[in-house]
Amino acid sequence: MPVLSYVHQLFSAEQCQAYIHTLRWKDRPLQCPRCQSLNVGPWGIYHAQPGLRRYRCKEEGCKRTFNDLTGTLLDGSKRSLPSWILATFLLCLSCSSRRIAREVGVHIRTSYRWCWWLRNAALSYEMHRQLEGTIEADELYHTAGQKGQAKRGGKKALGRRPRGRRKKREPGRGHYDKDRPAIIAWVSRQGSVVIQATKDFTVQTVQKAADLAVQAGSRLYTDSASSYRAVKGYMHAFVNHTQKEYARGDVHENRAECLFSLLKPYLRVFRGVSKINLPGYVGFFQFLRNFRQQNAFEQAELILQAALNPAIASRARRGEFVACFDHFDLLQTAIN
Ligand SMILES: [Zn+2]
Repeated sequence: MPVLSYVHQLFSAEQCQAYIHTLRWKDRPLQCPRCQSLNVGPWGIYHAQPGLRRYRCKEEGCKRTFNDLTGTLLDGSKRSLPSWILATFLLCLSCSSRRIAREVGVHIRTSYRWCWWLRNAALSYEMHRQLEGTIEADELYHTAGQKGQAKRGGKKALGRRPRGRRKKREPGRGHYDKDRPAIIAWVSRQGSVVIQATKDFTVQTVQKAADLAVQAGSRLYTDSASSYRAVKGYMHAFVNHTQKEYARGDVHENRAECLFSLLKPYLRVFRGVSKINLPGYVGFFQFLRNFRQQNAFEQAELILQAALNPAIASRARRGEFVACFDHFDLLQTAIN
C-alpha cells in the first residue's frame, strides 16, 4: 500500500483529461482556437501529460497545433489536471486559498492566483442577473481594510494605528474611506439573490444598485432606511425596525437578513478581506447561493466549464468580470 498525502493522487490522469476534453468541447465543435477552422485532425500526444490530446489545424496559412487546454485558464499550467479539479471543488466548499494550497500541495501564491481566476470565471454566470417579482433588500457594513495590498511585500505604513483584527466600530453608517464599505443584498422570493459591495449607502448609490439588480416595477420590501424610501421605479413597502416592527403581513425582509447570517461566516473564513477584493468575494458568494441546488462538485463543473472557454478565460485572468460587476461607482473603480 503506497503512502499518499493528497486525495487527488488517487485520481486517474487519463480520466481527468477525458473529462476536461468533454467539458471543453461540449457546447462547441472541435475547432482551431486561432482561425476557428473545423478542418483539424489529431497530432500526437504529450509524454509528460498522459491523456492530453494534441491537434493540428489543416487550414492553409494556419497549420498550427493546439490541445484541449489551449487558450483556457488551465493553459500553460505546470500543475496536473487533478490538482485543478480538486482546487475548484474545494473553492466551492468555501475554503480559503491557504487551505487549498495545503490540501492540493501547491504554493500559496499559486493557489491564491487560481482562486482569483476561478472565482472570476464563476462570476461570468452572474454578470447579467436581474431579479423580478417580490424582492427583499437589506444592507450591512463590513470591516475591510488594506489586507495584502502592500507593494512588493512586507509591511507598509498604514497611516494610522493598526486596529487589530476587530475594529472598534464607530457609530453610524460605514463608508469605504472609513474601511467599512456597505454590502447591499437583494433577495427575490423566487430564490435568486444579487449582492453588491458599494462604497457607501447614499440615495444615489442605492438607486444605481437597485436599477442594476432589480427589474423596474418589481415589489420591494425593505427596512425604513431613508435611502430605500427615496428609490424610484418600484412598488415599495417597508417595516419600521425602530418601532420594533419586523413583519407586517407579507412585508418583511427576513430572507435578506438570513442571507447575511450566511454571508458573515463565509467571509470570516478568510480572516479579513481587503476592501479592494471585497466585491470578488461577495460576487462568488452570490454565485454559490444562486446555484445552491447543485452540490459542490456540480458547481465546480460549472466553473471549470467557464474556465475552459477561451473567451471567458482571458477576461477572467484580467479580472474583468469583477470590474464590470460593479460598474457603478464602486470599489474597483475607487482604486483606479
Ligand atoms: Zn487554424
